[in-house]
Amino acid sequence: MVSILHGLRPLQLLAYAPMPTPDAYLRIAIPSPLRRVFDYLPPKLCSTRLEPGMRVKVPFGQREVVGVLLGTADQSDVPRNKLKHAIVILDDLPVVPRDIFRTLNWAAGYYHHPIGEVFATALPALLRTDAPAQGQQIDHWQVSPMGATIDPTSLKRAPRQAALLHRLQQARAEGLGAHVFSNDEGDWRGAINRLEEHGWVTHTRRDAWQVIPPPRELEGEHTLNPEQAHAVTVVTRALAEFQTFLLEGITGSGKTEVYLRIIESVLAQGRQALVLVPEIGLTPQLVQRFNTRLNTPLVVLHSHLTDHERLNAWLAARENKAGVVIGTRSALFTPLPGLGVIIVDEEHDLSYKQQDGFRYHARDLAIMRARECGVPIVLGSATPSLESLFNVQQGRSQVLHLSQRAGNARPPQFRVLDIRGLKMSENLSPPLIQTTRAHLAANGQVLLFLNRRGYAPMLLCHGCGWVATCPRCDARMTLHRHDHRLRCHHCGSERPLPNKCPECKGEELRQLGYGTERIEEDLQQHFPDATIVRIDRDSTRRKGSMQQLLDEIHSGRGQILVGTQMLAKGHHFPQVTLAAILDADYGLYSADFRAAERMAQQVLQVAGRSGRAERQGEVLIQTHHPENPLLATLLQRGYRAFAGELLQERQATTWPPYSHLALLRAEATHAEQPMAFLQQAKQLAARYQVPGVQLLGPLPAPMPKRAGRYRAQLLIQASERPALHQLLKPWVLELENAKTSRQVRWTLDVDPMELF
Ligand code: ADP
Ligand code: ZN
Ligand code: ZN
Repeated sequence: MVSILHGLRPLQLLAYAPMPTPDAYLRIAIPSPLRRVFDYLPPKLCSTRLEPGMRVKVPFGQREVVGVLLGTADQSDVPRNKLKHAIVILDDLPVVPRDIFRTLNWAAGYYHHPIGEVFATALPALLRTDAPAQGQQIDHWQVSPMGATIDPTSLKRAPRQAALLHRLQQARAEGLGAHVFSNDEGDWRGAINRLEEHGWVTHTRRDAWQVIPPPRELEGEHTLNPEQAHAVTVVTRALAEFQTFLLEGITGSGKTEVYLRIIESVLAQGRQALVLVPEIGLTPQLVQRFNTRLNTPLVVLHSHLTDHERLNAWLAARENKAGVVIGTRSALFTPLPGLGVIIVDEEHDLSYKQQDGFRYHARDLAIMRARECGVPIVLGSATPSLESLFNVQQGRSQVLHLSQRAGNARPPQFRVLDIRGLKMSENLSPPLIQTTRAHLAANGQVLLFLNRRGYAPMLLCHGCGWVATCPRCDARMTLHRHDHRLRCHHCGSERPLPNKCPECKGEELRQLGYGTERIEEDLQQHFPDATIVRIDRDSTRRKGSMQQLLDEIHSGRGQILVGTQMLAKGHHFPQVTLAAILDADYGLYSADFRAAERMAQQVLQVAGRSGRAERQGEVLIQTHHPENPLLATLLQRGYRAFAGELLQERQATTWPPYSHLALLRAEATHAEQPMAFLQQAKQLAARYQVPGVQLLGPLPAPMPKRAGRYRAQLLIQASERPALHQLLKPWVLELENAKTSRQVRWTLDVDPMELF
């Protein structure tokens, strides 16, 4: 959380100074589970100037590994004759520039994670090896002065050459790279070789990152409304200093327009912008808007890039060729020598928290990086996290409001549907069906939200009560009807759908509960003529399928849209006039102290898809608890009031942000081992007697067995953050050496986002 800026001093920086004398020691971060740095002697032949952040290849046990140079030292705890020489310095320039270096160094201390793994996480995969920090080379062609005078239509017998020559003439001095032609049919290479033989084009090899095409046609911008204009002015006035802004704008209020204007100012200064988004795949529109509005090469980092593409993008950013880098969590670590602003869109989104390995929170580290660089950071959301609202209260962050929908759009109207006692058709109530019918008749699109994929979450034998459970987890298996399989959504194991009960051989197997697949089927019964588009992880698995489904929606062909959060996040569907939440009850009653916050974020996120253009939108919420006070506050008084109440509740119950948490998790193949380890951990911790720190547990995890392993956890809660770190720092080192730790896999999660 952002309070990380306070209370905790950063880890002592090892060195960031000009380097070294030949008798110095190199201090190296090596990817290993050990929380320590390793000393080496400089390579025997070393003419390179050393700088922190360069990669070094070193012998490590029986292997050779690649680490990152943290600094040098005049002395080592290890006697000089016991130290090995590093093999080679791999870089001429640091691959971890100074601002990222300092952020990572700080993060290793804050998250108590092994520094070598922290540095490795920040590098593109290829740079975790000894591959050079160079991009791929690609073929590139330019029209020659002679070629410029040839009329392509004169090449009647060689239409392919004519077409290529025409395109190269159009591209003029910029020329075209092989990637432009790679989708062409036929032998374009042969044709281009002919052109080269004629002397009409010249061929060169270029770094792939040098040929990112700038956008062609720029689109017009909107006239800002007063709130948007104010937000833009305030941030652009602060471009020369570190400051945290919370852009709290209701859905459809034009936050993206504000980002674009801020970025334009940054680009006008010749600087770069970093934009973090929760999931690129879900927001192709956002990328497109950036592309058509900003006159700069744009680098998009997403999970489908190959290692080479990722390195190319990384280089384009580092060489200041790309003005804007937009990407998910790990894009945070892209080198940007001209960084001028950081934007974190949907800052409340859970996906910013890495859930395995180095469990950092990208929003929080982005704030650290902005501070290192002395640039502003803008956190945008319609439903800010309580942590970010708390930081506003504490004066650490300045809030900028967008309280109206942009253009002519108006906020949607909410209606809570009390479904108690109603005769439901699957999970659809009669009023919901009627309302859907009315919106369809008025040519509106209808969006139905249910955060559960598959057909039914439970398969039960009516004869004997047998339930299909996962053999590897304490969980039921979900029925997927289209391919007749049972799947565990926790470990991925699957098997064919049985047609008889495996216990009693009875044939009456019942499908209980609803998933999106089942809702889709039921909708088709009610609306046989309507085109239904389902968007969830199953329907979008194939590459390109998400885009295809989105096209269906934008073209207006899709009339009823049903899906999980993938459908609810960020999209701008101007024709949707009704959005419905099929099951709000789940979020109202959950053990997790964050459940209410998440429920509200989800409700408003879904609601935000409705009525984004001229026509008034409507939102329906199906619940068995229409009188729930949280829901009432949210709908009658809005998210701000709701969040205010929640903050008061958190204060009274001393949950974050009014306390600070860390979760020690352990898992093993034997049921007793995790508990034994955590018991020992607790005893060790007790010896430190840090005031203000409480240890809760250990307890079996809410899902005690998952993917064949038994799991347990110990929660550490501290009233003040320094106290938490005072305990964690020596404690994790002891845990590394504890005897019981060898029998388990354990991880420490600082600021955990999911406890249960
Ligand atoms: P948000 O990101 O806050 O949900 P968007 O930035 O997607 O909202 O804006 C919603 C819609 O309003 C978009 O179609 C956008 O082009 C349009 N829009 C934004 N600002 C303005 C404005 N000042 N005038 C008119 N339309 C605007
Ligand atoms: Zn049975
Ligand atoms: Zn499972």
